[in-house]
Amino acid sequence: MVKRILLASPRGYCAGVERAVETVERALEHYGAPVYVRKQIVHNIHVVRDLEARGAIFVEEETEVPEGATVVYSAHGVAPTVFENSARLGHNVIDAVCPLVTKVHVQARRYADEGYTIVLIGHAGHEEVVGTMGEAPDATVLVQTVDEVDALELPAGAKLAYVTQTTLSVDETGEIIQALRRRFPDIRAPRKEDICYATSNRQWAVKEMLPEIDLLLVIGSRNSSNSNRLVETARAAGTPAHLIDDETEIDERWLDGVETVGITSGASAPEKLVARVCDWFRARGVTDIQAYRLVEEDVTFRLPVELRRELELAAQAP
Ligand code: SF4
Repeated sequence: MVKRILLASPRGYCAGVERAVETVERALEHYGAPVYVRKQIVHNIHVVRDLEARGAIFVEEETEVPEGATVVYSAHGVAPTVFENSARLGHNVIDAVCPLVTKVHVQARRYADEGYTIVLIGHAGHEEVVGTMGEAPDATVLVQTVDEVDALELPAGAKLAYVTQTTLSVDETGEIIQALRRRFPDIRAPRKEDICYATSNRQWAVKEMLPEIDLLLVIGSRNSSNSNRLVETARAAGTPAHLIDDETEIDERWLDGVETVGITSGASAPEKLVARVCDWFRARGVTDIQAYRLVEEDVTFRLPVELRRELELAAQAP
């Protein structure tokens, strides 16, 4: 029977997600509905539904957005061709890409300009990977595993550099980087780690908590990369873990023989979902619910410059 709930810290919203969600909210307030959003602004179904209810229209491609309309690009970043399409259609573009993703784009562009072949470590098809590859499609190869590193075929004498997706497993990525270094000792590394602070902090917090818990519940959507990595972090250490969008997805059979449940949430999951899961356990008689070591994050990002300027102008208007 479950006796105790431990809440991982840090968990939930990162600075990039806070900024992206606020961008859509402020754009809706300023321009009025509808505001178009290319792809899910962040990978969380609750966030998307909430913004839809306020007048956001989510589309898969910028080419679906009417001419001249306002469109917000998601936190995961886009390829340069997306900006080109929007320019042709006269869109009012607000780019809510996380600045930490932009850093990877800038790096990839610089490497390509200097004649490097870029090895991008990431998951095929993930929006962030599609966007980063778009910076230098002819100069970039994607690897997802150590086996793929071993199978890489590159032109002899190619100058190599690597970048990574921001939301990967710290441990797995470390292994892939080691494999790259073994095969290509001269490969250039990013000046600063590409896996972002939020992803690595949340994985660290789960690892810290594992000796104390029998089961981990990760609140996050299926398409949230960093949330999936949290599940894997627990499972890799032998602790059962499940990804849930909210309390309705908890299967009571998971709780058989479990005394302490750890709860965390991905970088795109709002804190209210954690509260709902805690209420679900309270309704089943669990009273011992506590944070496991409180760790504060103090990273914040300003709103996208194009929106900030627009809001400043509106504030100055007579
Ligand atoms: S998970 Fe990291 S890279 Fe992604 S939005 Fe958050 S801070 Fe930015």
